[in-house]
Amino acid sequence: MCGIVGFIGQEKASDVVIKGLERLEYRGYDSCGITFYNPNESKFVTNKTTGRVSKLLNENDYPDNNHLAIGHTRWATHGVANHSNTHPHYSMNDRFVIVHNGVIENHKELVFKYLPDYKFRSETDTEVIVNLIEKFSKELSVLEAIRKTISLLEGSYALLIIDTQDTDKLYAVKNKSPLLIGESDKGIILGSDVLAFVNYADNYYLLEDNSVITVEKINEKYNFEIFDTIGLKIEKPEKHPMDFVTDELDKAGFEHYMLKEISEQPAVVRKIMSEYMDGNDLKINYKVKSLFEGVNRVYILAAGTSYHAGLIGRVYFEEIAKIPTEVFIASEFAYNEPLIEPNSIFVLISQSGETADLRACLVNVREQGFKTLSITNVPTSTLAREADQTLNIYAGTEIAVASTKAYIGQIAVLAILSNCLSKQHSLDLVSEMSRAAVSMENIVDKRDYIEEVVQKTIKGDHCFYIGRGIDYFVSLEAALKLKEITYIHTDGLAAGELKHGPMALIEKDVPVIAIISQDHINNNTRSNLEEAKAREAKPLVISLDNTSKGNDEIVLMDVHRLLSPLVTIIPAQLIAYYKAIDLGVDIDKPRNLAKSATVE
Ligand code: GLU
Repeated sequence: MCGIVGFIGQEKASDVVIKGLERLEYRGYDSCGITFYNPNESKFVTNKTTGRVSKLLNENDYPDNNHLAIGHTRWATHGVANHSNTHPHYSMNDRFVIVHNGVIENHKELVFKYLPDYKFRSETDTEVIVNLIEKFSKELSVLEAIRKTISLLEGSYALLIIDTQDTDKLYAVKNKSPLLIGESDKGIILGSDVLAFVNYADNYYLLEDNSVITVEKINEKYNFEIFDTIGLKIEKPEKHPMDFVTDELDKAGFEHYMLKEISEQPAVVRKIMSEYMDGNDLKINYKVKSLFEGVNRVYILAAGTSYHAGLIGRVYFEEIAKIPTEVFIASEFAYNEPLIEPNSIFVLISQSGETADLRACLVNVREQGFKTLSITNVPTSTLAREADQTLNIYAGTEIAVASTKAYIGQIAVLAILSNCLSKQHSLDLVSEMSRAAVSMENIVDKRDYIEEVVQKTIKGDHCFYIGRGIDYFVSLEAALKLKEITYIHTDGLAAGELKHGPMALIEKDVPVIAIISQDHINNNTRSNLEEAKAREAKPLVISLDNTSKGNDEIVLMDVHRLLSPLVTIIPAQLIAYYKAIDLGVDIDKPRNLAKSATVE
């Protein structure tokens, strides 16, 4: 969700920033902008658009010798997505320019108290920050003015700040919103995601909350320094090499990232197996295992697709590891905490590791003294760093907004974890997961067939997925995929609930897709589907070899009943993908959605 990038150094700064913003596009945004210094005319220039980042590049001239720029992709929280609300924002007298990711909760009070005479040009909460800096800089140094400003802010913010009176300096601040620093011989880049640094940094650094950063030229080279909020210099954090595979960021011949990522899922399962293989078995390190000692209950917290993986995790913790488990939506848990069993552990699941709702829960449960484990795809993320322990899902960078391979990775890691916690490693996971990977591959290879099924079956404005038990949890995720990228209203239902209300919505040709992978509830789900058919719904069954009957449309190679979600979700992901193709929507960047939900 939203992004910032800034650069100062010996490259064409506007190019570095625009390329960086393009790398962050997958996170979701509704407008974008850039400010750079044009040394030929000795002035700062700002370009904004409510279109794509590429428009910033195509419709404007950038001199080759521009060396300082900041840019922003905005996910509007205060004020609509129009030109005047798009960042960067200037202070009233144009001395300072700012980009901001996050939310300033007390912005109205601050305007009232400190800036009653200031004229504002946007409806954003951000403009208060840049005007406070300008006001305080009349009596303080710029760094002190920034520090005084942030001491007043309540909320989340990653900021890049330019002082137009000093073209050789760049300032940044981080609190609760992600911000990292990258460096190379050519200069310093700052951004909300390390992906923005590809090709422009050799190393990168993660920043702690409440860091204030200055970047300036010392002996012909740009350097950065980090200060805390009282102005004390902090030691530079650990340096990380930029060693990830840039191939991952390309579409590898696929038309969309989503299809590429769907196709990568069998490989993700195999990668996870290789990473967790220890001797002949899949194992979790002893530090994670020992966190579960004496634990009477597991609380899983997550949002969106990760929440759906968490529901499957509950089945694993209870059926395999025999630990009672509850699953909560993070944004609900954060403000409506249930009565918690004292000997509990919290497992927080997040693709990005930056989900703001989850971060709020993590801070809260740690304060209460509970043990915490995060499961994420980004081992350097905030949740990975701040939980007691973390497990990596090794899914590789996921670019499409609709999550696919991260969901698979989360489920696979939850299965390994639960099996390791079970007294006798009850599942032969090595062979069961290998089999699941083959079954997944089979269905990915038959994707043309799913495209045909979609043409015949998925019509109209409504759709339902139904299932029981673990299939119900997959139905929830299947429905989310379809609505996310096709905008067709879709519900995932416990099959038995159809008759308790939703049946009123069934009419001729409304698709009802049943997921049936569990033998013991096979006939029950089929009866529910019959009831829908009797009201002229268009039925479609996704089953496994051993649960299939007669004319089931999509039959998948058998897998262990607990691992069925790894396989049954794939046709549903493909159904969503091909229907979106059919409707001509922007598959990788669906409207109104963001990849990493960094605001609460
Ligand atoms: N709250 C700010 C705004 O609405 C920043 C949003 C963002 O993080 O993109 O402009």
